[in-house]
Amino acid sequence: MSTWQEVLKQRSISSLDSLAERFGAEQFPELDRLRQAAENFEFRISPAMVDLIKEPNDPIWRQYVPTVQELEVVDGVVDSLNEDEDSPVPNITHRYPDRALFLVSPVCASYCRFCTRRRKVGDPEKIPLSQFESAFQYLESHAEIRDVILSGGDPLLLSDRRLEAILIRLRAIPHLQIIRIGSRVPCHLPERITPELCDLLKRFHPLFLNTHFNHPDELTPAAVHGLGMLADAGIPLGCQTVLLRGVNDTPEVMTKLMHGLLMARVRPYYIYMADQVAGGEHFRTTVETGLRIMKALRGWTSGLAIPAFVIDAPGGGGKIPLLPEYVESFNEDEVVLRNFKGERYVYRQPRELVTVGGRITDPEYDLQPDFELPKSRKRAPRTPKQP
Ligand code: SF4
Repeated sequence: MSTWQEVLKQRSISSLDSLAERFGAEQFPELDRLRQAAENFEFRISPAMVDLIKEPNDPIWRQYVPTVQELEVVDGVVDSLNEDEDSPVPNITHRYPDRALFLVSPVCASYCRFCTRRRKVGDPEKIPLSQFESAFQYLESHAEIRDVILSGGDPLLLSDRRLEAILIRLRAIPHLQIIRIGSRVPCHLPERITPELCDLLKRFHPLFLNTHFNHPDELTPAAVHGLGMLADAGIPLGCQTVLLRGVNDTPEVMTKLMHGLLMARVRPYYIYMADQVAGGEHFRTTVETGLRIMKALRGWTSGLAIPAFVIDAPGGGGKIPLLPEYVESFNEDEVVLRNFKGERYVYRQPRELVTVGGRITDPEYDLQPDFELPKSRKRAPRTPKQP
């Protein structure tokens, strides 16, 4: 039986010529410009994904086959999340107070054309495997970091030996409570999920794995089997899905994907708006498309199947959740709500709620600090009783 390395090396498509041979040269009329797009960002389609392409321009094709649209940059940004600015040492991004991103692998089994990190993924010089020491030292010396996320590229494309060395070193850091791995391997290269890998990972609990599926067809029997092996190793599985034009931008496709993930024992974690990344702009949908999908999920299916819908804010603002509007009005007496069917309900505020300067506040928790009361509803601030 072939190893996962052999499968990846021998059966992937990694040149436009092989692509044209497989799907017909007529599919690629602008070959010269296409070569430029393929040069701008690494190109490889793993066997599992090649086998899933049913026809040109289908949802799987769109994710991996280069297109001349990648050359049309309108408002895309090379480092759209400003990750490099928040990088104190090579391979580390430290943006949030208690967690850090550690890029441990420059390569992926398939390269997604919408990749946010396309400026460096696929390039070992930009994600250098030789510079881990300063990253380890940074994590060791920052006691506020309790959660490290291994990413890349795809961490699970490292050999078991190298992965083990990284995990041993991380587990020796007392303040690191949680290790997370971000990997698209269960989708791209299910052959990589071996019993040996599962035995290795389960030695480093609490270890979480966030995978990435974008379309229900990607949940092949092999992928579901691999996910089951990881779940059996006690690894909590989450999924980060990217909302992509022409791939999963309808409620029907997204609902089917979320249900399929749960059946594969994966909890949907995030749906991301596609980032504003140069070269990937043609994948972007409107925010309203995402909100419409979330509205189609909430209430109509189990809460387990509903991830948070977020925009990773351009410029490094972090993940900002977006919710369809369910609150019709809000004052110190009541909140008027619409349920998933659009029906109206009223929830009475508790008596302790007071207003200060026209803003609704709670003695212990500011519910909506920026919510301004209509003038007619404003009350004078309460003054504390004199003893
Ligand atoms: S698997 Fe992840 S890191 Fe690799 S190309 Fe796709 S989105 Fe980028």
